[in-house]
Amino acid sequence: MSIQIRNISKNFGSFKALQNIDLTIKRGELVALLGPSGSGKTSLLRIIAGLESADEGTILFDDRPTHSLDANERQVGFVFQHYALFRHMTVFDNVAYGLKVRPRNVRPSKAEIKAKVEELLSLVKLDHLASRYPDQLSGGQKQRVALARALAVEPKVLLLDEPFGALDAKVRKELRRWLRKLHDDFHITSIFVTHDQEEALDVADRIVVMNEGAIEQIGSPEEVYDHPQTPFVYNFLGNVNLFHGRLEKGRLHHGSIQTTLSDNHLETSGDATGYVRPHDLKITRNNEHTERILARVFHVHAIGSVVRVELNRLDNNEFLEAELTKNEARELNLSVGEEVYVLPKQLKVFVPEDF
Ligand code: ATP
Repeated sequence: MSIQIRNISKNFGSFKALQNIDLTIKRGELVALLGPSGSGKTSLLRIIAGLESADEGTILFDDRPTHSLDANERQVGFVFQHYALFRHMTVFDNVAYGLKVRPRNVRPSKAEIKAKVEELLSLVKLDHLASRYPDQLSGGQKQRVALARALAVEPKVLLLDEPFGALDAKVRKELRRWLRKLHDDFHITSIFVTHDQEEALDVADRIVVMNEGAIEQIGSPEEVYDHPQTPFVYNFLGNVNLFHGRLEKGRLHHGSIQTTLSDNHLETSGDATGYVRPHDLKITRNNEHTERILARVFHVHAIGSVVRVELNRLDNNEFLEAELTKNEARELNLSVGEEVYVLPKQLKVFVPEDF
């Protein structure tokens, strides 16, 4: 099922929780709504689910306005942060529930329900726990039951609200893999809400970055991480170095350095901030480049597959953070206290409209 969100706005009293949201989700896509607390993610998800109504705008499922569809036609599966399992039912009965309560004319037979539930429980590797009650499960196991339960009714749309938010980091990671795998197996159009950038970057086909009830940027994980279109997205998704300075004739003057900008800005001048991701800072001992920044290395540490280098600029004492691959780090063989040159590979400046 494709989902079109057209010009959705929602107010709570005078508070604008969502403002003119436009978003099209393709059939079979896995999309993350990512943003800080209060940015409107849950409100948007609830409106898509039909649990909340919008003040303005329309939601279309496969080109049909959702208000013309009854609950059965919507075929939405839901997974919440707090499992919402039935405590008095076994794992098996929790997963079977949605099938058992179907109208008589479309209800599967007992044997069909049993086969379906067993298939799903084996998919989420919980077949050995079918007769347990929710209280006898770990958080991660409960959330896998919740996923199996949502999938049992073969939804056309799967909506997940911070599904792994209450779990510890290791279990979260494991469940992300589950979600991705289940999605790849079933191709259900899925939207999940998260405030965890790493989770969104890791799992989603596309990320919708939200801030204060509006969409800041929509794009693939690579697009939003490597090519942020707003300062907010730079700051919210990952680490960033900021160069405060003055923009003149396509160059940013910061500290005692000038950096030529790749996207020009020849016509504008004024105070400006340059943004650059740690992996776009090149470290070199070569002094031939005229726009080099002199800096002293004060910390080098490996984090997973990358090496993080913290430096101090010597012209203005500002902090810089660079990220190298292990190979780059091995070749450079930096020592703490050493003076090196830093070159920003991609310095991005956002020009305020009032320049
Ligand atoms: P979180 O990550 O904290 O859940 P969110 O991005 O999902 O945040 P929403 O839950 O959509 O944000 O809330 C957006 C804003 O709307 C918040 O400021 C919230 O306080 C407000 N809000 C949400 N529901 C209501 C309500 N029923 N009445 C009044 N204000 C509400």
